[in-house]
Amino acid sequence: MDVGRRHVNVAVADLAHTVIAERGERLQPDEEHTAEVMLDRAAALVVAAVEESGHLLSDVIGVGLGLPAPVVSGTGLLGASNILPAWAGLAPSVELGRRLQLPVHVENDANLGALSEHTWGAGRGSEALVYLKLGTGIGGGLVINGRLFRGISGTAGEIGHLSLDAAGDVCRCGNRGCLELVAGGAALVSVLGRGRPEVRSLADVVGLVADGDAPCRRLVADAGSSIGVALGGLVNLINPDRVVVGGELAATGQVLLDPLRHALGRSAVPSAVEAVDVVQGTLGGRAEALGAVALVLREPSPTR
Ligand SMILES: [Zn+2]
Repeated sequence: MDVGRRHVNVAVADLAHTVIAERGERLQPDEEHTAEVMLDRAAALVVAAVEESGHLLSDVIGVGLGLPAPVVSGTGLLGASNILPAWAGLAPSVELGRRLQLPVHVENDANLGALSEHTWGAGRGSEALVYLKLGTGIGGGLVINGRLFRGISGTAGEIGHLSLDAAGDVCRCGNRGCLELVAGGAALVSVLGRGRPEVRSLADVVGLVADGDAPCRRLVADAGSSIGVALGGLVNLINPDRVVVGGELAATGQVLLDPLRHALGRSAVPSAVEAVDVVQGTLGGRAEALGAVALVLREPSPTR
């Protein structure tokens, strides 16, 4: 299950990793999104998807839940710097587990994207993988030697909050000049929407890039350059063999990736740049829900 600010996606898979049912719901911007409402809808969608797969809820060995928030290892609690403020301090595994009467594993959504691209997508076979989730915000996940590397409080790989400008604007995380403030989807929509009220979502931006809209392509290219600079720092530290670029903005393809690669080439140690391939993710909007499946199939199940 992948729950974001505007969507809930559910995938049901068997033990051979074959996806046997998928469901999704988009939420309207004016709907109420309290944690309780979201959890109720998510639980209902799981019940519907399992029914569609021809199985019983009692056949399910576990549920993986991805959220756009850092998840503190061991406690399952969500950190404060997330884009679901109503969920801060909540233990979604307990809340959802009570609704479904099933063990629930909770993980940061970008970490799940990393896991699914490593299992099924563009990250297969990588020994040191960096995954970027370019959506409303910017998330990152690391899979090292086949395992997620979370860090102590779940923020490892969070490249969106790498500061590029010590005198820049204050970010929701409390720092200044974070990458997300200049290259996150919300920032792009805000800049482009100033003179153009028809631009209201990241999907609009992606559509305009595909249509060849010059200001929009320039903005996305500049975002790619900023991401490449920040990525240079991460590539120097981790020395990965692959970077998989996912999230909604990844659909802009080379318009984003060419300047990103160029900036990376100027920002990291040459031998580290030579060792890394930067590729577009192949799972698109399904990456996080599939990652939740991979999480349950990889992690030891808690006792029921
Ligand atoms: Zn920040």
